Amino acid sequence: MQKISIFGATGSIGQSTIDLIRRDLSSYDVVALTGGRNIARLAADAIELGADLAVTAYEEALPELRQALAGSGVEASAGQAALIEAAARPADWIMSAIVGVAGLAPGLKALEQGTTLALANKESLVCAGRLLLDTAKQYGARLLPVDSEHSAVFQGLVGEDISAVERIVITASGGAFRDWPLENLKTATLAQASAHPNWDMGQRITIDSASMFNKALEVIETREYFGVEPEQIEVLVHPESLVHALVGFRDGALMAHLGAPDMRHAIGYALHWPERRDLPVARLDLAQIGQLNFSTPDLIRYPALSQASGVMQRGGLMGAVFNAAKERALDHFIAGDIGFTDMAEITARVLERVETQSGLIDSAMTLDNVTQIDHIARKSADVAAAQTIG
Ligand code: NDP
Repeated sequence: MQKISIFGATGSIGQSTIDLIRRDLSSYDVVALTGGRNIARLAADAIELGADLAVTAYEEALPELRQALAGSGVEASAGQAALIEAAARPADWIMSAIVGVAGLAPGLKALEQGTTLALANKESLVCAGRLLLDTAKQYGARLLPVDSEHSAVFQGLVGEDISAVERIVITASGGAFRDWPLENLKTATLAQASAHPNWDMGQRITIDSASMFNKALEVIETREYFGVEPEQIEVLVHPESLVHALVGFRDGALMAHLGAPDMRHAIGYALHWPERRDLPVARLDLAQIGQLNFSTPDLIRYPALSQASGVMQRGGLMGAVFNAAKERALDHFIAGDIGFTDMAEITARVLERVETQSGLIDSAMTLDNVTQIDHIARKSADVAAAQTIG
């Protein structure tokens, strides 16, 4: 039996992971499930899967979790320290699907036990890629990509040498506003930004798809995970979301990965790796699909992409600044404080301010330094948001 834990079990990726586990429950021994505010879901899944432990990130939610688990034999705990303790519990495979930089510390702790970490939490790689990879190496752990594009590239590289790679192309649907007149973006509402044309995902990543902040993070994730140069990474708008990524080799071959837009493929690939097993995902009928479209992204519509290029060129801890600014700008958009296009203006201002005012950008990539610069960037984003509102 494979011992597994799922961080962010109550979210979109967590629930897709549980869907796969549930289909073959006798093969798995579930150690820990973690969640945030959705206590009913966390408790119900922990009881159904027979988990040893259920953890909520919020200490004030512990009484509710204890009550929901009463008599089940599932242990309950809460708070940041409890998340770290859960990550240290021995498991063969751990899903990292907390949203945001909050996933970094548990991910690092999981790697320290030399496990396989299936990484959906792209923000960890953006904020502290080198630290994650070095920690994995030091403890003999394995990091497997779960983002659909990165899983596709990973699969395209099986049996290949990364030095034979000329370029990596990741695709983007273009999100909810791909075909909107540019002048309408300023007044785009939360509901409009939360409707993805192809993928069914958590709200934050759906809005980040409309702004392409999600793709911007993925470009940085590609650089960090595969160790390629920024100039080797391309983004293509592909409205059908069926080609997830392409790997271009020195000999001119371009290998594409196609599949239905269903995260259970990438999750299942990481779960069963290095084997391939049956997965409950739709099979593509290309004759029926008939046509696939590709175009170059418009950098005026999607300024986050140019910002990601600047972040990679600058290096150091700029990834953590970018992610924190983006997370806070998104919080303000969700709260209704700022407009859709204000988000990219805020991240641009934070990148500039934190780089010039903080001496931290070139400091060592430790969890403490990443946490410190994350706080500075968040404060800076709040100031920028207040100026926007004012
Ligand atoms: P969701 O918002 O659906 O779920 C996030 C999970 O994290 C929930 O379990 C949530 O708990 C928990 N959580 C939220 N805040 C905290 C916190 N501060 N500390 C600990 N746990 C917290 O997100 P997704 O599943 O969409 O995304 C998860 C990760 O996977 C992200 O990094 C995203 O970029 C990445 N990803 C997602 C894809 C998708 O298809 N959804 C595709 C590729 C990557 P609760 O809900 O109980 O409050």
